[in-house]
Amino acid sequence: VRAEVISIGTELLLGHIVDTNKGHISRKMAEIGIDVLRHSTVGDNPKRLSALLRRSLLRSDIVFTIGGLGPTVDDITVETVSKTLSRKLVFNKQIAKQVRSYFKRRRYKFPEHSLRQAYVPEGAICPKNDVGTAPGLIIPLKDKVLICLPGPPVELVPIVQRDIIPYIKKHFKATEFIKSHSIRLAGIPEATVNTRVKDLLKLSGSTTLGIYARLGEVELKITSKAKSEKEYKKNVKKIVTKIRKRLSSFIYGTDDESLEEAVGILLKRNKKTLAIAESCTGGLISDRITNVSGSSKYFKMGVIAYSNKVKTSILGVPTEILKKHGAVSKECALSMAKGIKKIANADIGISVTGIAGPGGGTKKKPVGLVYITLVIDKKNISKKYLFSGKRNDIKILTSQLALNLIRTNLING
Ligand code: AMP
Ligand code: MG
Repeated sequence: VRAEVISIGTELLLGHIVDTNKGHISRKMAEIGIDVLRHSTVGDNPKRLSALLRRSLLRSDIVFTIGGLGPTVDDITVETVSKTLSRKLVFNKQIAKQVRSYFKRRRYKFPEHSLRQAYVPEGAICPKNDVGTAPGLIIPLKDKVLICLPGPPVELVPIVQRDIIPYIKKHFKATEFIKSHSIRLAGIPEATVNTRVKDLLKLSGSTTLGIYARLGEVELKITSKAKSEKEYKKNVKKIVTKIRKRLSSFIYGTDDESLEEAVGILLKRNKKTLAIAESCTGGLISDRITNVSGSSKYFKMGVIAYSNKVKTSILGVPTEILKKHGAVSKECALSMAKGIKKIANADIGISVTGIAGPGGGTKKKPVGLVYITLVIDKKNISKKYLFSGKRNDIKILTSQLALNLIRTNLING
């Protein structure tokens, strides 16, 4: 089964936005054994789109278009598709109702021209769009299909999952599929991971392993081509077992799991509560912790103690420490962590203080210098790091290392 993807939008050709949708569709198709053999992009130009559609429908079984389904004048997909396929546009009551209710729920006056979106090519199946007003279109063509999807990823992603994948599975017979499984690691550099799995990275054939470094974490991705789910699982398991044996304490999760989720699970399992005092991260660690649903079970409070005054008045850092060692010091970090643990009455207090740059560094305390301290029960652990990168990189790295410090202290707890 051959598929291809056409992205529509002048903004894509101008490089104003990055096309994330075609990658998403390709990954999803690979997972169900559909080969995506071409990606193309055209501007909001009916002639060029029409020419490309004709060619694509000759050579591919499944053609996706992305974008241009909106109500504005530069949205040309529906009209162009209708002309190219010689299918007239018919009014779809159901869509009209959905479009009206979209505006009603938002208390907007209904813009009459939005009814344009209720006209769809004859014979089209229209998957519902729960997020925006543009419906998706599945247009069956003898043994082929043209699928038109809305451009905004928040709209496209759920339609692909809920309607497109089941449709394709039902109407097309795939032989082999390609799927990936990720193992996520923190607290270990890419080079060390590389050394430990060198032999596996050289694998070739139906199952391969890739290594990807991100800020403060490493991803190992096992990709396998298989004929059945059972065969896929067997292929993946063989490698997962080896990786786990060699790197177990650094693995925090798999696939889309985040470090903050892993920390949350461990806090719940250990029945521990957490409080965070942040300086250079400006609240990022608390933000990440609270991105996890149910975090109120273990997260007690966060303080962004940016000024020295607040470090003293709120967290109780003695002025002598600030005078003698400065705000970016091991002593200050320890005092901040003890302070937040006490005022929140939490089991764990963690603090970060550092110089995120690009200004503010000195010879003795350069940009990237970060102290992280964890206080748990009667124990405290202090870490000193010298990160490099831009201001935001240093903030992200600091949050990664802080979360990982909590994690490593809980896994054996
Ligand atoms: P459109 O339906 O073409 O008007 O697209 C609406 C919006 O969706 C655009 O302004 C973009 O923000 C987004 N969008 C469209 N196509 C893509 C794409 N291929 N990848 C990511 N975002 C897109
Ligand atoms: Mg557009």
